[in-house]
Amino acid sequence: MTFHVMIIPTLDCPSNCEYCWGSKKDSGMMEIEVIEQIVNWLDGFRDDYVHFTFHGGEPLLVGYDFYKKALPMLKNATTHKEAGFSLQSNLWLIDEKLAKLFAEYNVAISTSIDGPLEINDHQRGKGYFDKTMKGYKIATDNGVRVSFICTFTSYSKDYEKEVYNFFLENGYNIKLHAALPSMRGNNADPWALSQEDHGKLLISLLDRYLNDLDKIEIKDFDHICKSSFMRRGTLCTFADCMGDTLAIGHDGNIYPCYRFNGMEEWVMGNVSDNPSMEDLTKSKAWKKLEEFKSFVDEDCADCTYIKFCRGGCPYNGIVATGTAKSVDPQCIAYKMIFKEVSDRANKDFLKSSMPPLMGNSNQNQKKKYSVMDLMLKR
Ligand code: SF4
Ligand code: SF4
Repeated sequence: MTFHVMIIPTLDCPSNCEYCWGSKKDSGMMEIEVIEQIVNWLDGFRDDYVHFTFHGGEPLLVGYDFYKKALPMLKNATTHKEAGFSLQSNLWLIDEKLAKLFAEYNVAISTSIDGPLEINDHQRGKGYFDKTMKGYKIATDNGVRVSFICTFTSYSKDYEKEVYNFFLENGYNIKLHAALPSMRGNNADPWALSQEDHGKLLISLLDRYLNDLDKIEIKDFDHICKSSFMRRGTLCTFADCMGDTLAIGHDGNIYPCYRFNGMEEWVMGNVSDNPSMEDLTKSKAWKKLEEFKSFVDEDCADCTYIKFCRGGCPYNGIVATGTAKSVDPQCIAYKMIFKEVSDRANKDFLKSSMPPLMGNSNQNQKKKYSVMDLMLKR
């Protein structure tokens, strides 16, 4: 089991994306002493492989010297096995020195682009596209692996084909996000995707993706198909994430996940106090997440997909309803895509057990992959 520790050096960000709910201007910056405390805290905390993700706000704001010290300290933070690293950034602040350092520590980067320049900059602000793509070039020229996070909003859903083709034509791998409302304000609300639109979008994108599995990777579909094949979630959204993911804020406060960062009521402890897992489970935040889990066990009990959905993301549920007694409001979208995957898998299974019809093969037809290929993808 991988233990995922998210490090949030700051919630500040130089960008001003219209629908962002994860940043906070003039927020504090993490000092290297907090990394020392994280390393001490992890010593004996849990005997599992640790993956660290630097997240924000914009994590590059803390600069080269921070990472030059932090990466070697964290690399051997647990005796179990060398730690892995990823970082989520808009890449505006990357330079050759930082890129070389990230390449040395095999840091995998995800960066956010929502499609071609016009669509991206309409959602994320003028000039965003060029700055991020410049950073992408610096990172990849120096040997860093970079993939993209594409957020679909109530606006860009109408440009699905253009957005998909942009990533396909450039051979960029992506992870999909649906724009969500926020716990911190209502700026994101007009951009949020409705459940039905989200479900339709996922089904349509899956259909496109099944033509192009040899050219592009859309991680969400790989996970959704694998999860439904294995009957257990392989992505945090579709698993009980409690305890297997923790996030550390700039001041050492521990939260259930980066999405709760900076909200006092979600603090579970502080790394400077070296809390054990048992200590964290006594926090109010943990108890609230337990409420979510119990509610899902009850409310989703009759759902065909409960084993590999687990009520979706608790943060999404809590934002939408203001209470932990909730499920992810994207439930309808999840049901739509899980049903699509299951229907396609059943059809594929039936087809494979029937002899081919004479004269029904079309040699010129474009090869189309199946969800079975995704279920069995390594
Ligand atoms: S709260 Fe949501 S995003 Fe965070 S780890 Fe859990 S499922 Fe994932
Ligand atoms: S699809 Fe909906 S009802 Fe089913 S487990 Fe997920 S959140 Fe619950």
